[in-house]
Amino acid sequence: MRLDGLRKTLHQVDKIRYRPALLQKIARGYFRTLVLRRPTLRVVEFSINHACQSKCGYCYAAKFRRPGERMLEVDEIRDIWRQSSEMGAVGSLILGGEPTLHPKFLDIVAALEPKKNIVTVATNCITLTEETIVELKRLGVFVLYVSINSTDPETNDLVRGYEGHYEHVMRVIDSCRRHDIDVMLPITTSKKLLPETLKLLDFARQHGMTASIGLMAPTGRQEGRKEELFDETFWTQLRELYDRNPGLRGDWDTNFTLKVGCPAGFEKIHVSPYGHVTGCAIQPMSFGKLPDEPLEDVVARMRRFRHFSKRSEHCIVALDEEFIGDYVDPSIDQPSTPYPIEDNPCYAGDCGGCGVERGGAARRFARRETRPRD
Ligand code: SF4
Repeated sequence: MRLDGLRKTLHQVDKIRYRPALLQKIARGYFRTLVLRRPTLRVVEFSINHACQSKCGYCYAAKFRRPGERMLEVDEIRDIWRQSSEMGAVGSLILGGEPTLHPKFLDIVAALEPKKNIVTVATNCITLTEETIVELKRLGVFVLYVSINSTDPETNDLVRGYEGHYEHVMRVIDSCRRHDIDVMLPITTSKKLLPETLKLLDFARQHGMTASIGLMAPTGRQEGRKEELFDETFWTQLRELYDRNPGLRGDWDTNFTLKVGCPAGFEKIHVSPYGHVTGCAIQPMSFGKLPDEPLEDVVARMRRFRHFSKRSEHCIVALDEEFIGDYVDPSIDQPSTPYPIEDNPCYAGDCGGCGVERGGAARRFARRETRPRD
């Protein structure tokens, strides 16, 4: 058993030590998982919109838009959080698009009960004002995710597709420092980007920020791009990087299990702007739509899915070629993502037929050849 997870999860302990109910809830999560051996939901990602001012070359949300479909209302998000919290969740991450562009952004933050839980907002900083930062703090938010892709402002702005993005991030970092809000730098890396990743880690250190690393995956604007896929050698290099940087966190190493592994469906879920539930924000398959059915039923379905229940030690959407071939590649020709997983013919085999329980035999769709994007 590794203690990395415990150490990394509790790195914000100075911020939560005055929240006894939250500390108790976290302790319950470890107890249920480690002693009672019952999987416990830990975190929910909410992508609340698809609108964004940037045009990042790697955006996983590029196909979130579903014309004609209704997005979740604030009260529905509140109820999904209530259900998640009852299942053990101690935190949520608000994503987009750019979440601050949602007209009811602050109402959604409040609905996730930031004074009782850990609510994190991921923002591109472009429209985030000092006034909103103060309001977030008042609501109970104590950490923001702000991302840049290069320590060189010009290169960064080019990758983000928005001139002046770097300057906005620096402005927000300064503002957060003034108001005692932690800033975390999420870094998306790939084999090619590793040297830049190391520079970004130094940047984070210099600015007193923590950092987390996510892996480039062939989804969203990167779909079909297999040249950036990872391998065991890269994963080992990455693990060494983690061991050398105790403050560095990844999606896969803050589990209640205290083991390194993909949390999808077991400890973590993602809810799209329209209520579709996926294992994480970058996976393109939906296991159900909220609020059409109880969250518990959707999560039970996810936990029967072979690729989740094997509790892979790796990030499956970036490293598992079988998962990518069977579930990620078929999204290429879908007009929007996530697509209903029961539409995928591989699913009935992978989950012991559980796709059938949601309304008849799985609708088969033609498997298209993976074609690289230009
Ligand atoms: S596939 Fe698993 S490890 Fe990778 S980003 Fe999604 S939840 Fe995290």
